[in-house]
Amino acid sequence: MSASINILSGLGDKGPAAIVVEANGKRLLLDAGGALHPGEPTTWARGLDIDAVIISHDHIDHIGGVSELPATLPLYCTPLVAQALPKGRAWQSLPERSTCQVAGIPVTTGQAGHSLGGVWIHLGIEGGIFYSGDACFESRLFPFDAPPPARIALLDASYGTYDQPQQACVDAISEHLNRPLVFPVPESGRALEMALWLAEEADARGLSLAIDPVIRANLKTLLALPSTLRRSHADDNIKTLLTRPDASQPTLKLISDRDDTAAMWPGFHLLHTGYLTPSRCAELAAGDILWQRWNVHLRASHLVELADQIQAERVVPLFTHLSEPALGAWRTLLGARLATEKTLFLNTYALNTHTLDANALNNRSPA
Ligand SMILES: [Zn+2]
Repeated sequence: MSASINILSGLGDKGPAAIVVEANGKRLLLDAGGALHPGEPTTWARGLDIDAVIISHDHIDHIGGVSELPATLPLYCTPLVAQALPKGRAWQSLPERSTCQVAGIPVTTGQAGHSLGGVWIHLGIEGGIFYSGDACFESRLFPFDAPPPARIALLDASYGTYDQPQQACVDAISEHLNRPLVFPVPESGRALEMALWLAEEADARGLSLAIDPVIRANLKTLLALPSTLRRSHADDNIKTLLTRPDASQPTLKLISDRDDTAAMWPGFHLLHTGYLTPSRCAELAAGDILWQRWNVHLRASHLVELADQIQAERVVPLFTHLSEPALGAWRTLLGARLATEKTLFLNTYALNTHTLDANALNNRSPA
């Protein structure tokens, strides 16, 4: 018995997620990420030969490449994530927290703590392969489920070795609330918890607030889920927020991010809380926008904690730079468990890593 992992995209940089796992003569694609930067092509899908794809969550760098895959390729995702698929795309239901079979491979899912409908993925082969998708321990609304043990852990390291607790982020954002602010946010992720926090702050400070209807609709969807799929202590606050009218001339606006620029919001400061595209980095450098992170990914100590929990022998930090000095910092954090290779091979007796050309595994011999 053996298995291999080939990271087509998402290793060595914040980029689209696409990972092929081959086992038992079948090839599964984990996530089909699209470009984070408008206009950039998605190249990882060229010449790809796979049996099924599993999508962890509905953010563009994990789902945006689905249109590059054959329409007949079996696709698995949770029902909420399916709402973000291209119109008419066929899909099969992935459980939010359970085990199923995909192409004959046992697949266990659990809540990833990152977004509405988002899950981590565990493959029950060769001692376990765990892929976190995007994950976070600190969400006020989305729970994180403890995964089963896995020899290989492919973990969300979008924040690199950054390790600031969420409370420090929230305190820093609070410092800006004395001026008119617009927060452009991904509508299925941190938008929901930021809505609750902003409502609390607006009430405490006597500020006026408006929340994008799409974000309100997603809060309603969250509230309609089984209570085990959210941190239900906030239910009453969500209900109150949903009945709260928007201010007609708000000083705080929480909006779904539609590539807003500072020029589109005269009289307001744009405060970004997540990943900045190069054009937004330029806006920040020019002093046109504000930026303060709101944690929605694993910070470094939580990534190590997760690797410990699942007893991983090798840990691949995904979606982050792996050149020096970051590489040295990861060595310190993970020791001999650190793996940075594009391709990993597992068998019942040993675990080897090799650096191979990404195309090498595309030439699959007949099963
Ligand atoms: Zn995400």
